[in-house]
Parts: sequence; structure tokens; C-alpha cells
Amino acid sequence: MSASTETKSTCCYCGVGCGVIITAEQGQITGVRGDPDHPANFGRLCSKGSQLHMTSTPLIQAQRRLHQPMLRQRRDQALTISDWDSSIAYVAERISNTVAEHGPDSIGFYVSGQLLTEDYYLFNKLARGLIGTNQIDSNSRLCMSSAVAGYKQSLGSDAPPCSYEDLDHADLVLIIGANPAYAHPVLYRRLEAARARKPEMKLVVVDPRRTDSAQDADLHLAIKPGSDVALLNGLLHICLWEGWTQAAWLDAHTSGLEALRDSVRDCTPEQTATLCGVSADDIYLLARWFAQSAASLSLYCQGLNQSSAGTAKNSALINLHLMTAQIGRPGAGPFSLTGQPNAMGGRETGSMANLLCAHRDLSNADDRAEVANFWGIPEIPAQAGSTAVDMFEATRKSKIRILWIVCTNPAHSLPAQAQVRAALETAELVIVQEAFRDTATAAYADVLLPAASWGEKEGTVTNSERRISRVRAAIAPPGNARADWWIASQIGLAIQTRFPQHFPHKQTLRLAYDNTEQIWNEHRELTRGRDLDITGLSYRLLEQSPQQWPCPEGQHTGQARLYTDFRFAHADGKARLICTPYQPAQDKVNARTPFVLSTGRLRDHWHGMSRTGVTPAAFAHQPEPMLEMHPQDMEARFLKHGDTVCIRNTRGQQIWRIRANPALRSGMLWLPMHWGEEFVWGNANGYTGLGVNNLVSPALDPKSFQPELKFSTVSLQKQ
Ligand code: SF4
Repeated sequence: MSASTETKSTCCYCGVGCGVIITAEQGQITGVRGDPDHPANFGRLCSKGSQLHMTSTPLIQAQRRLHQPMLRQRRDQALTISDWDSSIAYVAERISNTVAEHGPDSIGFYVSGQLLTEDYYLFNKLARGLIGTNQIDSNSRLCMSSAVAGYKQSLGSDAPPCSYEDLDHADLVLIIGANPAYAHPVLYRRLEAARARKPEMKLVVVDPRRTDSAQDADLHLAIKPGSDVALLNGLLHICLWEGWTQAAWLDAHTSGLEALRDSVRDCTPEQTATLCGVSADDIYLLARWFAQSAASLSLYCQGLNQSSAGTAKNSALINLHLMTAQIGRPGAGPFSLTGQPNAMGGRETGSMANLLCAHRDLSNADDRAEVANFWGIPEIPAQAGSTAVDMFEATRKSKIRILWIVCTNPAHSLPAQAQVRAALETAELVIVQEAFRDTATAAYADVLLPAASWGEKEGTVTNSERRISRVRAAIAPPGNARADWWIASQIGLAIQTRFPQHFPHKQTLRLAYDNTEQIWNEHRELTRGRDLDITGLSYRLLEQSPQQWPCPEGQHTGQARLYTDFRFAHADGKARLICTPYQPAQDKVNARTPFVLSTGRLRDHWHGMSRTGVTPAAFAHQPEPMLEMHPQDMEARFLKHGDTVCIRNTRGQQIWRIRANPALRSGMLWLPMHWGEEFVWGNANGYTGLGVNNLVSPALDPKSFQPELKFSTVSLQKQ
């Protein structure tokens, strides 16, 4: 009988990035517990993390996992089991021939914030370096791209300036557009502990719903959905009017004050109260607390990001921090929480259509030349690729002919599902690289490539506070599943060796690696001299102690807090105060569509439930999806708990069971984001199923291109 082993790794769910210790025996994961030495969680795990071992039981490994490559050569054929050599050769040939006939931009890569940094780096190199296209984007586009755009335009770099330890130093914590009690539970426990130690600490929550986080708050502003910018501009107006801004500090460290002051001149408390649907007194109180607290910290997530005004929302919040000098000090700063476990790693490796490695910009010719020189290729193409929603639209219009989808489930998660699925049907070849065999997207695959999953992979991830942790393999992947980086590497090598004529000047591009440490070391070198310089870190050091970036060569510990000298990342060292005029959401509330539909996370489920959907414990908290509505709205429509209703807009119609939730604003509806078409009530009655995201607005933020997943309008009828 083999001995039990223990392996330190990282939880694969949210951006808190908790350290775990995996126990395994005879090639099976048998348990998981929190790593007491990991600085993100000090041994704590939430309900999702503590059940991780239940997602890879022998039964699940046997029944739910994809064990072998599968492919079909024609759409009217069924997928059949293949082997790696044949599958790699087939994909390499199809990609090479398509590039030869239609150009490199006919290949699209849709990757994921669930990938490890090494996987991300290699897909980025494969797309931009070998194929010669920037058609690579990540599902982080749905999650963090507004935070990226906001940090860059306001502070000059995509660098969250805060640390989890700032919760211990803050005198006021403002949670806006986030529900960390559900979505970042271990971080929320840390906030609770900080408040218990420091009862005078204020907690303010801005959220249209009275969430579990809001229930704990000293002040809850239940603003109208989508009115965040109006609120933040109103707070600025009060701070200016009352003289609570820091004139000398602003003069020394920011630019744009005059224009911003003019832009919020009319944002009076009364006007703001009307736009936001909350009292002027509460708005004033928040402004006073925020400006006058010794240290104000804001935590924010999808409520700000998933919006057609997502970048404006981010910059409006950063404006408030700058105007009151609440940044660069312990306990003070705008702290964007990441949804996925490695959204940050994707940003660091530049794995989005408009980015480049190590926080370089694709639009910058010098940045492109640096990466091309480093990789030893003539150039990186200048033309930006399609962002997530547009990538599927480009596929539907046959501009992209081969779509390679890695570790994500767009047939569940993207808005306007009918168009997404039309795109998957239009594509000439759909390659799906997945750990689980039965995702909604896998049903569209012409080639299914079995990927290793959590507990089976080596690499690194970066959490919300810029902390890089090692991810370790405790067991071997089932069957013939392989690490994501290995699959990218092998297909790249096959293209290089078998079709050199289609990829001239790319023969020396390195795509062969023996292990992830070699890939990480290469990525590390590209960060030298950049804001995220990690040349002082190594796998060995990270295994001893996860570290925050930057950590340049010669240092052994990372930097907890950024901008402590108030020198920001713009060339002149000054932060930018950005005018953010309030723009309502793009879907309109009117007589035809009188309800605002919003979506979000439940406490115990993750994304499309590929993983949490197999653990019975995850259903104890809420066993089935129900449409939530304010009880007064239900009463006015003669609805009672459990009734079935049809919600509809121009994108589709669905039947759901309804339940009363007094935590919602009147006029709102709310649905969990996790369930797909198989769970939507009414599919059998001829209604368009496709899960909640078929009703969700595909409107995009003009700078971040993040879709407006939090605000869609619908009608509602009792069935
Ligand atoms: Fe995993 Fe996030 Fe829970 Fe930590 S808080 S255990 S990272 S899901």
C-alpha cells in the first residue's frame, strides 16, 4: 500500500488565491486543507475550497473527465477517440493550411483566467510569435478588463496598489460593486477579523442588493443598478464643496484637476440622490467618512467592471481616492478584486488582444520590437486582435475560421448566446481544450483535447494582491490528459517542423520546453525593468514563500504596496484625474422592458459549475436556480413563491420559477450566473433556453470592451 503524500498548492477558484495542502494516496486526491503558512489565507478555506478534493474523486475522474483526444473530420460525423500524435498532426495541418489560405488572423485563441501563467505565456507566444496574429483574448475580458483600463488611464499601469494586509490598517472600507462575503469569502473573513479587532472601523457597501456583505455594513447605499458613476461624481462634488480634497497633494501628484472640477460642478447631492435613488444625507455621510478617515480602502469587482461604463466606473472611484489622497499609504487605496484565480497572470503575460508580455502595449512599436527581439522573430503584428465578444462575432462572419478554446466555456458564459452558438457552428474548425467532457462548448468541438486539471498541474498563479504562488501537481492527470502548456508546445512544434514554408523566419522561435520552470524563467526575463519586475523570484523561492510583485533581481521579498512615494506610472510621475460623465446603461427601462435583470455568484458555486456541479455539498446552500424579485413587485403582479414566469427581451425568452427576495431594489430581478440551458425551466415548452446569458446585454465598454453583464432589461409575465 502506497503512503499518503502531501503537496502544497493553490486553490483553483477565486482571486483570493488561498494556499492549500493536498493529500493524495494511490494516485487519488483524498483531502485538502488550508495552508497555515500561506499569506493569503493563513490556513483558512471557504466552502468551495474545502470541498476541492470532492471534485476529483475516482468516480468523477472516471465519468466526467476527458481522458483521450477526440476528433471528427466532418461536422456530420461523431467524435471518435484519437491519439495525441494524430490529433496534434491534424490540428497543425488545419491551422497551417488555413493561415496559408486566409492569413494569420483567421485563427482565434480564446483562453482563460483559469490557466496558469506558464500556459498563458505559451499560448501567447504560439499566437503572436508563431502564427503571427493578435487574435488571442481571454475570458478575463468578461471579468477584469475594465479594471485594467481604469488603472492604466488613471495611474499609468495595470498594477493594483494594495495588499490584503491593508484591511488591517484601514479605518474605512468601501465595498462597491462586489459581494466578497460570497465571492471572496476568505478575504471577507479577514475583513471581519479586522473589524472585530478595531470596532471603530467603518464598513460601507454600495450595491443595489442588500447582500450578505451589505448586511454587515455601517452604511448601505442601495443605489439604482448602473448609477455608480453618478454616485462617485456626487461624492467628489461634496468633497470639493466641503474642502475635503488635498490641494497641495493634488498639485504635486496629479494632473487634470480643473477639468474634473468643472465636470462634477453640477453633481449636487440632490441631483445625485435622484439619479442613484438613495438619500442625499447618506451620500454626504459617505463622502465625509471617506475623505476624513485616516485610511480609506475600496474593494470592487464585477459590479464596476461588467458595464458599458466599466472603465469610467473604475476611474471615477480612483478619482475619489486621488482627490482625497487616500492612496499609497497603509490601509488606503483602490483595490480591484480579481474574480478568477489567475486573471492577473493573464494580464502579466499580455494574453489579451490589445496587450503584450509584461505589461507592454500592443499599440506601442517599441514594445512590439522588444518582444519580437526577445523571441528572435522579425516582428509582432501591430493590428490588435478581436476582444472576446467580437471574436465570436468575427467567427460568425467567417473572418476567424479556426477557433481554439482553452479552459473556458463560452457557450455558457458569453452574452448573446444565440450568436455565440451560431459562431461555433459557422467556424470551420472548433478546437476545445478541456478537462471535463460535457461542457456546453465541448458539444461544438471538432477536436477535443484532454487537459490536466487542478491537483495535476505545475505552474504559478497571481492573486488579487499581486502575490505569485506555486501550483503543484499532487497526482498524474487521468488517462491521456496533458498540461495545457504541453499541448500548445506540441502543436506549435508540429506546425514549425511540418509546415515551415507557411511560417518563414519562425524556425528558431523556441516552443520546446521540458517543464514549466523553463517557461516561467523566460517570462520572468521579459519583466526585467518593467513595473512588474520579478527577476528576483524563482520557483524555489516561491515554494518557500509566495511573493508579491515587483521583486527585482537582488531582492527576496516583494513589495506589499505601490505608489508609496506618490510617484505614479505615467511618464511624468503624475496620476491622471479623468472626467467621467455619467452614462446610463445601454439597455433601457421602458414600458416594454420594465425590469432590470442582474446576475451574480452564489456562495458555493463557481462559474458554469463544471467543477462545483459535481459536489453535492455545493447544492445545500441553494439547490436550484430561481429568479429573485422584490416581494412588493411580486404582490403587485399577483405572484407567489414558486410561480413560473417568462422573462423576455429582444435576445430571447426564458421561463423561471420565482422567489421573493426583499434584499433587491424594487424594479430589479436577479439570477445566479451558474446554471446553463439544461437547468432553465421551460426549454421543453419551446422557449429559447441557453441559460441566463442569452438574455444578457452584449453592449461593450468602449475602452475595455467588457460586456455589460450586470444590466439587461426584460419584461416579465406570469405563466
Ligand atoms: Fe478558494 Fe477563493 Fe475560497 Fe480561497 S476564498 S478557498 S481561493 S474559493
